[in-house]
Amino acid sequence: MKRIFTKRNLLIALAVVVVAGGAVLFLNKSSDGGADSAAEATGQIWTCSMHPQVRMAKPGKCPICSMPLIPAKPVAKPATTNATAAASESMLGLSEHARAMASVETAAVQRRKMSREIRVVGKVQYNETALANITTRVEGYVERLFVDYTGIEIKAGDHLVEIYSPDLLVAQQELLIALDSQRNSILVESAKRKLLLWGLTQEQVDDLVLRKKVSDRITLFSPIHGTVTEKMVVQKAMVKPGEMLYRLANLESVWVYLDIYESELPWVQYGQMVEIKSEALPGQSFSGRVWFISPVLNEETRTVKVLLNINNTERKLKPGMYVSAVIRAELLSDGKPAPTGVEGQWSCPMHPLVIQPQGGECPVCKMALVQIPGTPSGAKPDSEQLLLSVPVTAVLDSGVRKLVYVEKAKGQFSPVEIVTGPRTDDSYPVLSGLSDGDKVAVRGSFLLDSQFQVQGLPSLFYPQGQAVVSGHQHGSGTSPAPAAKPTEHKH
Ligand SMILES: [Zn+2]
Repeated sequence: MKRIFTKRNLLIALAVVVVAGGAVLFLNKSSDGGADSAAEATGQIWTCSMHPQVRMAKPGKCPICSMPLIPAKPVAKPATTNATAAASESMLGLSEHARAMASVETAAVQRRKMSREIRVVGKVQYNETALANITTRVEGYVERLFVDYTGIEIKAGDHLVEIYSPDLLVAQQELLIALDSQRNSILVESAKRKLLLWGLTQEQVDDLVLRKKVSDRITLFSPIHGTVTEKMVVQKAMVKPGEMLYRLANLESVWVYLDIYESELPWVQYGQMVEIKSEALPGQSFSGRVWFISPVLNEETRTVKVLLNINNTERKLKPGMYVSAVIRAELLSDGKPAPTGVEGQWSCPMHPLVIQPQGGECPVCKMALVQIPGTPSGAKPDSEQLLLSVPVTAVLDSGVRKLVYVEKAKGQFSPVEIVTGPRTDDSYPVLSGLSDGDKVAVRGSFLLDSQFQVQGLPSLFYPQGQAVVSGHQHGSGTSPAPAAKPTEHKH
């Protein structure tokens, strides 16, 4: 085989060989006595540091990249009769020096309170239940405009506009005629009712009956407390019954919409307290409960709308503002989110904002309240329910299984498959595979795994280890010095 090396390629190839050789140099398979040296004499396998799937019985060049092969740990060990010896097969020894070189660090798994923080951007919106339109019920002309700009805050009973209405004049005269005749009280009542229906207040009607003074002007008053968000009426305009003059919104409470991704949805539940902040209000935070989770997903953004209701008596949050929200969910020992505190309380099927400690009627619609399902808040995670957690940096995830490297004895590492719950911010809850006090590699796991792989031991992608792919066994007798060197434990 003829190959042409440029000077540069040769240098790179040399560098790769040196690095690969170095990696093997400091990671040695642990020896379990004399059986190991016997294995070395008979079962030496050669592999490529760049292509660990290459398993050759003789030294030589890698068939894929032509790099010189390096010695690997033999897969076929001399037959062992006891199970413990088989278990120790997937153990790798690491000297103090090698450990430092590979930056392998370990930490004991601990039981701790586990939580997940979801950070999302939200938008302040009007509380839809606190919107009102002010319309006129009589035909006429706007003579005076008291509320003449958008954004003004008005209270229930504040005057809005004065309308000149000939129709109204006639209706008032009808009432006075009915009163004069004194014969038909039904006529009086219907004339009064007409004026009330046209938008006059009870006080205005009473005043008319008392003073008998008709007016062709009517003043409209606001039925609710709110902020003018839209003003459609102008001075001297003609208005017709049903025409909208103003749109009002009560800003004492606002809604915040959050867009939650599908993957985050399991962490969000009704009743959860959420903290929000706005860049416009540095140093201040607000909080509100999740009271509605949209039953539909937005297919464009792949998010689900979640609604919060926030108290806004100080009017600091303004509709349209962007806010950042933090949802904190705690986990129970089964890996499920902890109760939010509303479980066992009572709410209205139509008004989820209503949360009461006792059953009864909905204060808004008088429907019978129903109990909120779930275990009452007394079952918050206590010390016995704390989860065993493993840092995310320790976990190797193939997509099919998750592996951690456990330090079984000083410098002796072994791969352990684990089952985890949903990932939190920096760790996984361990549902099986580890127990209290187990020490896992939190740094250098990938390097450990690649060494297990190079040496044909069970590893992340090869749970059964690897077998020789070609060649047959002839003891070469030249066991390479670095790899065969027993692991030294320095103290
Ligand atoms: Zn209700």
